[in-house]
Amino acid sequence: MTARLVLATHNAGKVAELRDILTGLDVELLGADDVDLPDVEETGETFAANAVLKATVCAAAVGLPCVADDSGLVVDALDGAPGVYSARYAGPQRDDEANLQLVLDRTAGEEAPTARFVCAAAIAMPDGTVKVVEGTMEGTIVRPPRGDNGFGYDPIFQPEGHDRTSAEMAPEEKHAISHRGRAFRALRPHIHAMLAAAPSSEPPTEQG
Ligand code: IMP
Repeated sequence: MTARLVLATHNAGKVAELRDILTGLDVELLGADDVDLPDVEETGETFAANAVLKATVCAAAVGLPCVADDSGLVVDALDGAPGVYSARYAGPQRDDEANLQLVLDRTAGEEAPTARFVCAAAIAMPDGTVKVVEGTMEGTIVRPPRGDNGFGYDPIFQPEGHDRTSAEMAPEEKHAISHRGRAFRALRPHIHAMLAAAPSSEPPTEQG
């Protein structure tokens, strides 16, 4: 029997990315279209705390193993801001353009400010067992914004070793080096182990 796993997000792009990364594991990945996801306020002070909170609340509510992630931009010259407040840095309206402009305004005096995207990804079981991992992508803040791909702060973030912003990269190219790609890939063996150890679900077999 195929093990079932819920990704606690309304973002279809994240579901597609995790589905790609789980290729070869006999896991049926469910999203917001398949189950009723609980609304969870991100009250944690770290990415890991928020990922764990979302995964554990989801697993308890849905009764299935759940994966959740939390991510954001960390700018050294801003003492780590916007950090866990990345989505609402310029206000509760969660405006990507205003958020990005605020980072540019607040780093205006800095020469090539160093920054990183961070993603924490957690898997939780309905019994409360949880595992969390992190992935990062180092880079610098650049101006003016460049590129139309991606979302959020991508147009002002140039990954280390590249001369284009992450908004100028194709999705697969960004996923190969991104914080989220790294976190999801690091979580894969834990997903395999935790689903295999779960009493109520069949172990996911490696295929191919
Ligand atoms: P969440 O983890 O989906 O809640 O993302 C939090 C916020 O961090 C997003 O709204 C973006 O502002 C920012 N962010 C996270 N990952 C990325 C990325 O890959 N590119 C650009 N912005 C990102």
